[in-house]
Amino acid sequence: MRPLTDSIADRLAEVGERIARAAARAGRRREEITLIAVTKVFPASVILDGYEAGLREFGENYVQEAAARWPRWQAAHPDVRLHMIGAIQSNKARDVVALFDVIETVDRPKLARALIKEMARQDRRLPCFIQVNTGEEPQKAGVWPDDADAFIEECRGLGLPVIGLMAIPPLEEEPSLHFVLLAEIAKRNGLKALSMGMSHDFEVAIQFGATHVRVGTAIFGPRPPRRHRPGGGER
Ligand SMILES: *Cc1c(COP(=O)(O)O)cnc(C)c1O
Repeated sequence: MRPLTDSIADRLAEVGERIARAAARAGRRREEITLIAVTKVFPASVILDGYEAGLREFGENYVQEAAARWPRWQAAHPDVRLHMIGAIQSNKARDVVALFDVIETVDRPKLARALIKEMARQDRRLPCFIQVNTGEEPQKAGVWPDDADAFIEECRGLGLPVIGLMAIPPLEEEPSLHFVLLAEIAKRNGLKALSMGMSHDFEVAIQFGATHVRVGTAIFGPRPPRRHRPGGGER
């Protein structure tokens, strides 16, 4: 562990090296893996620090928090891409489609329908991930693994641009089994993108095929105490 006084740039460089090493170990190219910097609950100043350190892909969980700080930033920096990684209420579909560039947490038909309707209305087609609840945890969002194939099919039928799958393994379990399960579901459905892996397990996720890793604390330090259950959102 490095001292807490390390800057965001230092920690980002270290995370970048760890991603590169994990990719090399897995015989993969570094460019196959997109680092998404998760800024939820951190003060807005980390966005500037992260951007200056080279970050361009960011993730937020809460529509309200993101809406309060991203629009001005996005207007001035068209090269940032903002990923929605928190649970979404269907009645927030309009805000989510307006604010975000990628939606990672599509997990039920009502939400899928609300999103496709808004995309048509706003003339914005956002790449989407289907969130799978690989641990079948009742308190967690995500379609259950047994229902995933049918739900992916349904989303495609609606015209949603589904590019991949996303999962958050149970905290207390060995994550690799969950990563393997997610990769299998993606493969049999012809999906290429896999958003899996957080600060504590992104190297394992890369070993099992992650194309997107979502990392907060390893870059920005400990999160200020507030609601921040992984995958937490407004629901
Ligand atoms: C908070 C969060 C992360 C980042 O978690 P860290 O442990 O800070 O890296 C990644 N994914 C989701 C869905 C989250 O809610």
